[in-house]
Amino acid sequence: MRGLMQDYPLTLQHIFWRIEKLFARKEIVTRREDGVHRYTYGDCAARVKRLANVLTGLGIGPGDRIGTLAWNNYRHLELYYAVPCMGAVLHTLNLRLFPEQLAFVINDAEDKVLFVDQTILPILNRIAGQIPHVEKIIVLSDGGDLPPHNLGDLLDYEALLADAGKEFAWPVLDERDAAAMCYTSGTTGNPKGVVYSHRSQFLHAMAGLQRDTLGLSETDTILPVVPMFHVNSWGIPYGAGMAGAKLLFPDRWMGDGAALLELAREEDATLLAGVPTVWIGLLRQIEQTGIALPTVHTIVGGGSAVPPALIEGMDRHDLRVVHAWGMTETSPIGTVARPRTWHSAEQAEVMRRTQGPPVPGVELRIADIDSGAELPWDGVAFGEVQVRGPWIISAYYHDADPGKLTDDGWFRTGDVATMTPDGYMSIVDRTKDVIKSGGEWISSVELENAIMAHPKVLEATVIALPHPKWQERPVAFVVPAPEHRDQVTQQEILDFLADKVARWWLPDEVRFIAELPKTSVGKFDKKVLRAEAAPIGGE
Ligand code: AMP
Repeated sequence: MRGLMQDYPLTLQHIFWRIEKLFARKEIVTRREDGVHRYTYGDCAARVKRLANVLTGLGIGPGDRIGTLAWNNYRHLELYYAVPCMGAVLHTLNLRLFPEQLAFVINDAEDKVLFVDQTILPILNRIAGQIPHVEKIIVLSDGGDLPPHNLGDLLDYEALLADAGKEFAWPVLDERDAAAMCYTSGTTGNPKGVVYSHRSQFLHAMAGLQRDTLGLSETDTILPVVPMFHVNSWGIPYGAGMAGAKLLFPDRWMGDGAALLELAREEDATLLAGVPTVWIGLLRQIEQTGIALPTVHTIVGGGSAVPPALIEGMDRHDLRVVHAWGMTETSPIGTVARPRTWHSAEQAEVMRRTQGPPVPGVELRIADIDSGAELPWDGVAFGEVQVRGPWIISAYYHDADPGKLTDDGWFRTGDVATMTPDGYMSIVDRTKDVIKSGGEWISSVELENAIMAHPKVLEATVIALPHPKWQERPVAFVVPAPEHRDQVTQQEILDFLADKVARWWLPDEVRFIAELPKTSVGKFDKKVLRAEAAPIGGE
């Protein structure tokens, strides 16, 4: 017997319907150079419909990819709604990618149109002439002269919206259609495309509204500091729309503790979300200025492990950090560390420092790294985290490699963790060795390859070492070629890397050693190096 409920498609059009019909009066505030830009969901909805007309006018149709290179701001939000709701695919581009990677992802996705914040134009300009599929570039501008560029004729977002029709008839969409794309930073080789469906985004947004997860509510004023160009800003643009929460956008002041504090304070923020590095900066700011945030009830921290000292530091100011884990491939919310009723006060303190239990909709298990056998939840055994659920990846775009899924269809995350008997996950390591600096990935393999291209270098490996500000920073271990022993210097290596990797990728230190430890199959053994390495600045 079949159920007799409507086969109602779970699409982002429903969330748009809510912001337009139910929450038109609620505000969206974006920081600007000269104060803030303030408008309502109603204003936003009206511009979203005009934007859908603009896209149609540009010849954009179902499934076409639209790239965005933008900070967290109201225009980016308009793109978040207009692009998928009119049937195209929103491809958020990470503006911190190295130019070749940026060109790669735009070309791999075959983006037809790019929307770019005026302040980010110089980044796009670095790949001028390398993105043949892009037919039009539209600038999101507050006015003023454009920086010099070689990108050809550019269109102006505001001018296009002003000329566009006010009404738009949304097409009927299949909930399994692609809504958005985001590329991971590949540890080896190129970034890989993750393609979200309307259904996955819808369900993920609903999950964020539950009290035991992020608990997004109409009563909230949310400040997402996690970029809209990385994993959909943790789903907050849609979760906030679904709930009707007021939104605060920091635009390009995302790394500016003083600006964040001011925005949160002035607008009475209640919920903040971002990577630990941002909160370390905010905590410092709070301690230096003595400015309190009495309206904030939750600071969601994730993207890399939240240090206990941060949780404790925020506790001192009555600010509660809620630790969450996820990844691009999991939309991203996988676990949220909220203690249970059965935990004693002491246990609860321990549990909130873990990555937490899987949220409703996500199933999780750990498996032996070598044999793949499922491991017990005893708080001791550690293995690779595997997940499944309606917002977990089934395959990468343009990638037939089945290796990321187990035979029975679970996604292999590459993270290594223990589980308590009641389902609390603690990440202990990563199967891959990428470095996460300030919430952004640095590929150790790419750095190694670049260093090993130096004529005086025999072997090199790069590991992450803890850093008080950036969480992790790369440190290179280099074996000089025998004929150059004692001749090569740290500065020489760094100068050599300067035009090969992004500036913030440069290792904090280059340490010269006689031999690198190796595993049984001859790979550099980073575990040994990590265990023996002196701290950064501590040699
Ligand atoms: P990304 O896809 O760039 O968001 O990175 C996802 C990866 O970040 C995960 O696979 C983890 O290795 C790491 N990560 C995310 N959240 C946490 C967390 N709360 N604790 C430790 N690592 C985390």
